[in-house]
Amino acid sequence: MKIVVIGAGAMGSLFGALLAESGENVRLFDIWKEHVEAINERGLNIEFNGKMCSVRVNATSDKNQIGKTDLVIIFVKSTETGDAARTASELIYNNGFVLTLQNGMGNADIIGKIIDPARIIAGTTSHGATMLGPGSIRHAGTGPTVIGMWSGIENSGIAKIADVFNQAGIATEIVDDVQNVIWAKLLVNVGINAITALTGIKNGRIIDFPAAKALTCAAVEEAMEVARALGINVADNTVEHVIQVAEATGTNRSSMGQDVDNKRKTEINAINGAVVKEAEKLGINVPVNQTLTALIETMQAHYE
Ligand code: NAD
Repeated sequence: MKIVVIGAGAMGSLFGALLAESGENVRLFDIWKEHVEAINERGLNIEFNGKMCSVRVNATSDKNQIGKTDLVIIFVKSTETGDAARTASELIYNNGFVLTLQNGMGNADIIGKIIDPARIIAGTTSHGATMLGPGSIRHAGTGPTVIGMWSGIENSGIAKIADVFNQAGIATEIVDDVQNVIWAKLLVNVGINAITALTGIKNGRIIDFPAAKALTCAAVEEAMEVARALGINVADNTVEHVIQVAEATGTNRSSMGQDVDNKRKTEINAINGAVVKEAEKLGINVPVNQTLTALIETMQAHYE
């Protein structure tokens, strides 16, 4: 299968490398030229369980070198999804697919403004990766990947993609109700990301500080109400689950925490901001998510 990864940062490089190692025809596309050059010169270096290995995979910053593709995987941050979707539209065969495993809500909708929604596959992954520098990443964790047709319309092509992923060691399951899966991950991010980013704490410290824990519970409860109003199946024990995730990932700094630490634009608009946007349409009050969104927006607007 000819595959292009748009946004070959930590996650895009990881998925691209695993698929290339498995024998697929993979091209990484990224606007970060130093990273692309390093991959082409020295291979992609990946730290797996403390051991470094190098994977040969083609990378480019020139989309005109790529040609038409069966599968485009979008792994840019959600702030760049529109741009990535425009690139995808130039690279995809009419019967090809665009897959997003990005965090947050709204990515598939943004892609769907440019790509036929019936060609979009969305989902979540529990793999984790960290960028170490140009040409180098760390595989930070393994877990299931869950995908489904964004339009809800069945398409046998998705089974082939799941097979290719499973053969590459990316354990992948297909579901009919991918919206529910994406919301379940969103609810975790809603409760952990902005709060850790604003306070400078690691995930596990949320449980140590009663004020932070109360904020997490309130943000998640608000988002659960919005999700249910949208017809999403939300587990009753979601708040407890989010607290368990904070505990299980206790020593991690959340991705939004890392973004503000490094003065990068965050994915707030796809996380708490997405809850606020949906709540406004539904006439539901979400003051905690509104406040968290406004604070992160203000913080990232004046990075020095
Ligand atoms: P990253 O910042 O490491 O990688 C993003 C890459 O996109 C960068 O290399 C950047 O140069 C590139 N890029 C930016 N604009 C581009 C454009 N217009 N065209 C092509 N490339 C472009 O981010 P990441 O950590 O790999 O995360 C990617 C997505 O996956 C995010 O939505 C994130 O929330 C999600 N995610 C991350 C993890 C993780 O462990 N890192 C886990 C699950 C999901």
